[in-house]
Amino acid sequence: MKQDILNISQKLISVNSTKENVEGLSDVLGAIEKLKIDTKFKKFSKNKIPSLLYYNTPTVPKEFKVILNAHLDVVPAKPEQFKPKVVGDKLFGRGAIDMKAAAAVEMLVYKEVAAKVRYPLGLQLVTDEEIGGFDGTKYQIQKGVRADFVIAGEQTDLNVSNKAKGIVWAKISCRGKSAHGAHPWDGENAIVKMTNFINEKLFKTFPIPNREAWVTTANVARMETTNTTFNKVPDNCTIFVDFRYIPEEKSEIITKIKSILPTGFTFEPKIFEPSQFTDPGNEYFKLLRKSVTRLTGKKVKLLSDHGASDIRHYNTVNSPGVCFGPTGAGLHTDNEWVSIKSLEQYYEILKNFLLSI
Ligand SMILES: [Zn+2]
Repeated sequence: MKQDILNISQKLISVNSTKENVEGLSDVLGAIEKLKIDTKFKKFSKNKIPSLLYYNTPTVPKEFKVILNAHLDVVPAKPEQFKPKVVGDKLFGRGAIDMKAAAAVEMLVYKEVAAKVRYPLGLQLVTDEEIGGFDGTKYQIQKGVRADFVIAGEQTDLNVSNKAKGIVWAKISCRGKSAHGAHPWDGENAIVKMTNFINEKLFKTFPIPNREAWVTTANVARMETTNTTFNKVPDNCTIFVDFRYIPEEKSEIITKIKSILPTGFTFEPKIFEPSQFTDPGNEYFKLLRKSVTRLTGKKVKLLSDHGASDIRHYNTVNSPGVCFGPTGAGLHTDNEWVSIKSLEQYYEILKNFLLSI
């Protein structure tokens, strides 16, 4: 099995499947199709983003019991990162840990158990997670794909991540009063007004933690005004803010942001992405943790993610899900790798889990 995992992982890593390379997205799914998985599958495509859904039933079921989800797109990399390399226990290359090797394992496990299990099992392979998953996982969900439990193979070092922050990207604007720069007392400087808001309201409500913390944060990403000269008091100012909110604040986040805006300030949300949360009491969740402990002997840690994954799209239609993936490091860097031993364990755990349902 180790050799199969390595061969397929290497094959997938050597395809440049970044968003800039549309052909690569089809090629990487083509590489999977060539492996001849012995069940039916359906092809999806939206905005030139292809994705696949394998299923072990005569037709696509109304609701899967379990879906194994993986993305095969990667972020840009140096050319040499598309030439996978093994050093000791480490497999290096773009997508090694995020998440082509996990996809290879999910595929092999699906292939192995699809005919053995007595329930609808799916394998979902998408190619746009790195840019939001809207035309891959979300599109398939819009087409009716549902599951009792979804596992996305993002890196968790064989622990389980059951929650992730949501995102609000918003423009906040204010107006002032213009005047000649030599007579600032005649005007009302909009940049100064905005700066006061940032310091006295925004960061009082959403302080920047000194270290990693499970709290809602705000990042002021950009500040602009239409004023282009030195000798004028600017009469408008807009900031771009990236809010990352915890699932616990999901229902009140927008009200909370609006409540700190001084009179005359406007709030224009650009993106409102859901947070993720799956109850650790979920029966599949418990079974998965049991399988991890059975095969590794270690207690599973529950992780919280500051960034989002495709699981959030399932959570919005009440399909629970978690991220569960192998051990590695360096995702999105020049030095990305996955532990080969953890891939073998990942295979055994997933197999054990699926057969225990
Ligand atoms: Zn990923």
